[in-house]
Amino acid sequence: MLTTIDSLGSLSGRRVIVRCDLNVPLSDGVITDDGRIRAALGTLNELIHAGARVVVISHLGRPAGVPDTQFSLAPVAQRLSELLGKPVVFASDTVGTAAASAVANLGDGDIALLENLRFNAGETSKSKDERAGFAKRLAELGDSFVSDGFGVVHRDQASVVELAEILPHAAGRLIESELQILEQLTTKPEKPYTVVLGGSKVSDKLGVIEHLLPQVDSLLIGGGMMFTFLAAQGNAVGASLLEADQLDVVRGYLDEAERLGVQIVLPTDVVVASGFAADAQHDVKSVESMEDTPWGSTGIGLDIGPATSANFASIIEKSRTVFWNGPMGVFEFPTFANGTRAIAEALTRVDGLSVVGGGDSAAAVRTLGFSDSSFGHISTGGGASLEFLEGKRLPGLEVLGWQ
Ligand code: ADP
Ligand code: MG
Repeated sequence: MLTTIDSLGSLSGRRVIVRCDLNVPLSDGVITDDGRIRAALGTLNELIHAGARVVVISHLGRPAGVPDTQFSLAPVAQRLSELLGKPVVFASDTVGTAAASAVANLGDGDIALLENLRFNAGETSKSKDERAGFAKRLAELGDSFVSDGFGVVHRDQASVVELAEILPHAAGRLIESELQILEQLTTKPEKPYTVVLGGSKVSDKLGVIEHLLPQVDSLLIGGGMMFTFLAAQGNAVGASLLEADQLDVVRGYLDEAERLGVQIVLPTDVVVASGFAADAQHDVKSVESMEDTPWGSTGIGLDIGPATSANFASIIEKSRTVFWNGPMGVFEFPTFANGTRAIAEALTRVDGLSVVGGGDSAAAVRTLGFSDSSFGHISTGGGASLEFLEGKRLPGLEVLGWQ
């Protein structure tokens, strides 16, 4: 049973540390999608109204365990303050004197955000002792702990696991609602059930396929990982993303899918570009002729082609349950956003449950102008939701009593 906020008793006047996932995309210090901050508001407002002294902690990006200004949470503090409609005190360190004094000065119903957790090597250390050491210093700043960073519950990290081992703890409302939706996907999803995978974390996501195959009717593959599949089928993929050491593994998935009667649907055409740039020259090519362009083997596939988009869309629209993780192409460049847009559009037409998961996937649908309400659910966690669907044990949920 997941321990929830209700079990923490009266929080008035108490210091409550809240682990959020405020890892938003930034471009030159400007937040390009504030979805993860908005997703945190429910829990934070509830705690504020309960009179708690709220201490928010989060990571941003992947700094190397030391302070690095490009990964500062300062812009997030400002946006959080705007969205809450009240001041958010920003502490320029996580467990140092700035954090201690920010917390000491909080009144009931006040809120502070501490600087990036990952400016401290203990947060992501491989050593449990080092993580516990850092968690102990964090724990000095609070009386209770609310874990609400769904995007990190699959991580063995100090602010996710060890902190919960020290302080009285509970899951926040975001984690509760994410789990409610994901459970619908794992317990008797309405069929046909389609999973769409893309994005750039190829090796991370290839492993998911093995676990998903027995559960789904169709698996659609786009984004960076499509090239490992296309290469496994003997196609030349130029300079596109390719995990050469995974070719045999991928061939194994294709065989396994056939045995199970599941269709793995691969692109039939690709948008090949002269280079990795917003203004690169580009051409739509069949998957057999990706190197048949003026750029030859230096051409790079940056999106699925229009025929593939149409095929994927028609499979998605006929499904009753759809889970999508990973953009179909480099949507950050408008020229290569068409595949991602077509898939997003198809999801909005699903008669049943449609779920978008993943930081970049969520950012993609919002920057392409879709409203959150067009989908059944937009999950704040990509890796976390995939691992949940795989049936893996998630350390950040186990520590909260989830089984
Ligand atoms: P999510 O955060 O939703 O889980 P990922 O982090 O795995 O997704 O991947 C998102 C990134 O994948 C985007 O920044 C996008 O530009 C990139 N991407 C998609 N298709 C390709 C491709 N063909 N080549 C390179 N990068 C790609
Ligand atoms: Mg991502």
